[in-house]
Amino acid sequence: MKKTKIAIIGGGVAGATSAIYLAQLGLDITLFERESSLISGPPFCHLHAGGNLYREISDEQCIKLLKQSIDFLKFYPFVVDYRPTVIALPTTDKQTPKQLLPRLELLTKEYEKLIEKDSSNQVLGEPREYFRLYSKEDLERLKSKDIPTKPKNTDEWMVSVAQNLDFERVQFPLILVQEYGINLFRLASGATLILENMNSVTLRRDTEVTNIQREKEGWLVGYNNKQESFDYLINSAGFRTGKIDDMLGVPCKRMVEFKAAYVSHWKSKEQTLFPEIIFHGERGTPQGMGQFTPYPNGYFQLHGMTKNITLYDDGLVANRPFSCQPKLKESFMQKIENSWSQDEVEERTKLAIEHIGKFIPNFLEATVGSKPLFGAQQIPGDDPTLRVAEVSFPTKGYARCEIVKVSSVIDMIKAIQNDLIELGYLNREYKFSSPLKLLEEEKIDSLAQIFCEQRGYPRSLGRRNIEG
Ligand SMILES: Cc1cc2nc3c(=O)[nH]c(=O)nc-3n(C[C@H](O)[C@H](O)[C@H](O)COP(=O)(O)OP(=O)(O)OC[C@H]3O[C@@H](n4cnc5c(N)ncnc54)[C@H](O)[C@@H]3O)c2cc1C
Repeated sequence: MKKTKIAIIGGGVAGATSAIYLAQLGLDITLFERESSLISGPPFCHLHAGGNLYREISDEQCIKLLKQSIDFLKFYPFVVDYRPTVIALPTTDKQTPKQLLPRLELLTKEYEKLIEKDSSNQVLGEPREYFRLYSKEDLERLKSKDIPTKPKNTDEWMVSVAQNLDFERVQFPLILVQEYGINLFRLASGATLILENMNSVTLRRDTEVTNIQREKEGWLVGYNNKQESFDYLINSAGFRTGKIDDMLGVPCKRMVEFKAAYVSHWKSKEQTLFPEIIFHGERGTPQGMGQFTPYPNGYFQLHGMTKNITLYDDGLVANRPFSCQPKLKESFMQKIENSWSQDEVEERTKLAIEHIGKFIPNFLEATVGSKPLFGAQQIPGDDPTLRVAEVSFPTKGYARCEIVKVSSVIDMIKAIQNDLIELGYLNREYKFSSPLKLLEEEKIDSLAQIFCEQRGYPRSLGRRNIEG
């Protein structure tokens, strides 16, 4: 029987996951990616397992992020860096740590419920240890301990924090929460290794889709002066999703935002394991949130939610009535499509180091580690604080993916699966069994490091600190 042909436009995490999932269900997949390798768009480093980085979003979004992160972790266990996140409120912050506790308690209950429903959901440790509070006295006690080479409990993770944090700049208690890290290079590696070996996937890298026309049954997709017919179309083009919408003439409302994170190197801490540390602050002000994300061998990825570090003046733009594609300024497109000036890399990375150095004074000795990790991300609708979104179906045979956080991909693909069932392209009985289990760690590790090198980053960024 002729297999249903699916065109997936864009090989980021949304497109690559769709390809793995739908090919395994027996569909004939062609994945188009304009770049030479998969998952090379905007970065990701944090599994938002509870959304605790975003005080401004609703409890509902946080609960959804928790659930989606658990699903994501079960799907892609090899991309997870199993280290906790520590949340600190600066002394200058308007809120107190106590005000964050009701949400953490709610999330703990939700985590318990998810485990009751399915015990395999227990991937963030024991629910009663989902979060833990650390007083100043606790940190004073931990300060004199030796830093463990492989922390085995929350106290051991806090030793490096106790030894390096300026206690006068933060409020107590600190909150340790089981929000882990995720590694984009390892995801690019694992997805590539699997997709290259799936018989029902045609991988078209270095191939941009340039036009699409509706046919009687399906779509005619144009690329490289060729045309090919498909039954179903998945638009996973990231911040360029609007360009595909324009080819189809469907309704739309969206924003895109350019942001960057900076790579620093702290030589004297090459052997020290840190948790991720968040210093809360009001987005867009000079006190914007600081995010200190550890990688092996003394590398740290830094965010500072201020206009001169991660955010940019005019970095957030919405689409206009005549086009679904929001237009970023030329200076941002220059960074995405060509390169950064070395002066700007130095300037912004140093500002990021100073931003974190306000709380970790010894970190001021850190240096620029490489060019930044950066990109533009899509946000459907008109609420720039939206953090959970999946997919919409604006016309028959067309799925438009618009994830904001990578963990939303599993709900996204399940919604696409249902649409395919309703259209009669998929049998309800087909069950997904993950081919990712077959991957060998050595191969993932090796290709992840090759991707780092090819993309101009230190090889250490392709590794994780702690395996599950
Ligand atoms: C600085 C920064 C930090 C972030 N940190 C996190 C984080 O910690 N955790 C988290 O969950 N999320 C994070 N995000 C968001 C995350 O990066 C995005 O949600 C995610 O990468 C989006 O994946 P995607 O597959 O939808 O899009 P993309 O990764 O952008 O993939 C789209 C792909 O489509 C290709 N493409 C576009 N048009 C065409 C065409 N016409 N033909 C062929 N190919 C095409 C592109 O080349 C691209 O590879 C961050 C974003 C930024 C900017």
